Amino acid sequence: MRLTRRAFGSKKMVSLFTLGTMRAIKSIDQMYMVVKEAYLTGINHIETAPSYGPAEVLIGNAIKKLDKKGLCPKEKWIITSKILPGITYREGKKQIKEMLRTLGTDKIDNLAIHGLNISDHLTWATEGEGAKLLNWSQKEGFVNQIGFSSHGSKLLIQHAIETKKFDFCSLHVHLLNQTNLPLAKLALKNGMGVMAISPADKGGHLHSPSKQLISDCWPIEPLELAYRFLIAQEITTLTVGASNSEDFNIPKKLINSFSPLTDLEQNCIKRLFSQSYFRLGKTFCGECRKCLPCPEEVPIPEILKLRNLYVGHGLKSFAQERYNLIGRAGHWWEEINAESCNNCGDCLPRCPNNLNIPELLADTHVKLLEKPKRRLWG
Ligand code: SF4
Ligand code: SF4
Repeated sequence: MRLTRRAFGSKKMVSLFTLGTMRAIKSIDQMYMVVKEAYLTGINHIETAPSYGPAEVLIGNAIKKLDKKGLCPKEKWIITSKILPGITYREGKKQIKEMLRTLGTDKIDNLAIHGLNISDHLTWATEGEGAKLLNWSQKEGFVNQIGFSSHGSKLLIQHAIETKKFDFCSLHVHLLNQTNLPLAKLALKNGMGVMAISPADKGGHLHSPSKQLISDCWPIEPLELAYRFLIAQEITTLTVGASNSEDFNIPKKLINSFSPLTDLEQNCIKRLFSQSYFRLGKTFCGECRKCLPCPEEVPIPEILKLRNLYVGHGLKSFAQERYNLIGRAGHWWEEINAESCNNCGDCLPRCPNNLNIPELLADTHVKLLEKPKRRLWG
């Protein structure tokens, strides 16, 4: 079977799905099984990071063993790893050499800045020590192309794309969270590769959908519909953060599914959103951001987006996880939750939907607040 590949930046062609390795770090056997399943699925692209604990050393080991059995993609494995922004030139050189050593290779295809989340990170990568480091890594032949992942503001991501210094980016772009879709399109227009970060997990815990979501998407599985939506939007590749062989069931089915959305898929998506608008009624937040700035710096659209997802789509576990991460994840997420609203009313006349924002913030807080859970990454 001829496998579909898409250009990821200016260098190699990658599969529609990418193996994300953050959830396969329990043992050598688990990583081996997951990399082998990725190969059998038709995946040729692996995404990892030194911050994923032993992932790189386990990948190096798995690739070596599979190679001995002749199980290797035709184009060889394409590897994307990452480096945290803000480190010194000297430390960065050490980290890149260590990364290559643990992966058991003398070169990787793609190096991403891991979490280009604030403007200092962009300055670091384009003018500061980071720029020097990234140049060095390419000149020495250790890295083919440079990109970034970001959880930052739309404006920051837009600036990063417009520097034209990056060949690819990893973004939160999802069926149920399309805020970054215009940025993904901008990156694609600029010739960059775009990787969607974990549609199964970060796209709304679609690995364990609610009955409500299943019924809204019926007869297509919510995760399958989300994958198909992103593929049809020409997002280059979607990460599958696999921990077991079942995680490849849908990617196996869709590995060559590059065609536009079918009538059935379009109808399911229409119903999914119309049901959500119906449930939210007059409390729907359009995320237009016109209510900002808030004197207490409450991130109103981000908080009400979580309410939209919970009330509109039944994404309880996802909305709770994100809400309870506020203030606990540094520059990776928001710092202030709904409790900081002092009911001043400044935002009220600015909302085109006439929402009672303080009341909805309080409602979100009551619905979503819970004890914090351990966070993986991003
Ligand atoms: S102005 Fe209203 S609709 Fe727009 S983001 Fe703010 S709360 Fe939501
Ligand atoms: S009412 Fe609350 S959310 Fe609105 S501007 Fe005042 S503090 Fe901010």
